[in-house]
Amino acid sequence: MAVLPIRITGDPALHSRADIVTQFDGTLRQLVDDMFETMAAAPGVGLAAPQVGVPLRIFVYDWTDDNDRQWRGVAINPELWISPPPVGEADEETESEGCLSIPGERFPLRRSELAILRGIDLDGNPFEIKAEGWLARIFQHEFDHLDGLLYADRLEHGHARAATKIIRKNGWGSPGQSWLPGTDHLED
Ligand code: ZN
Repeated sequence: MAVLPIRITGDPALHSRADIVTQFDGTLRQLVDDMFETMAAAPGVGLAAPQVGVPLRIFVYDWTDDNDRQWRGVAINPELWISPPPVGEADEETESEGCLSIPGERFPLRRSELAILRGIDLDGNPFEIKAEGWLARIFQHEFDHLDGLLYADRLEHGHARAATKIIRKNGWGSPGQSWLPGTDHLED
């Protein structure tokens, strides 16, 4: 098991569509183990393979809801159905999300309240999860990563401008930058 460097926005791996997984072998299992360890070290509630520089359609998640139910798993070659996104402006308090590839920053973004995730697990077995609220948000965020989209790409105009400024101010937005959870300490 190893903690992997997480790519920062600007790295081409984060802005390209990832490929379908075809090999269910020890290499895949090792990658998923490392992704879980990296997500825990960050810490984060979700991590997609492109964030660690691997252009494959895989994400892991680990989130505990208000009823103390832990949602933890891996989605390989996922499909996602979402309810129509709500209209109006996103709320700063309750709808701000962040991303380990834009570390330490958060911006409000509207997301669909309901999502149905279908995917394949490490043993090649299909599964389906009906998610709502924050879990639905996590699935939408991670699924976007597999299509080369960051949440910053979806922000409303004003927030998008602020995000662009912060990315520039941090010296990000160019290829080859990463940070290592547990070693590099970032201000939150
Ligand atoms: Zn992210």
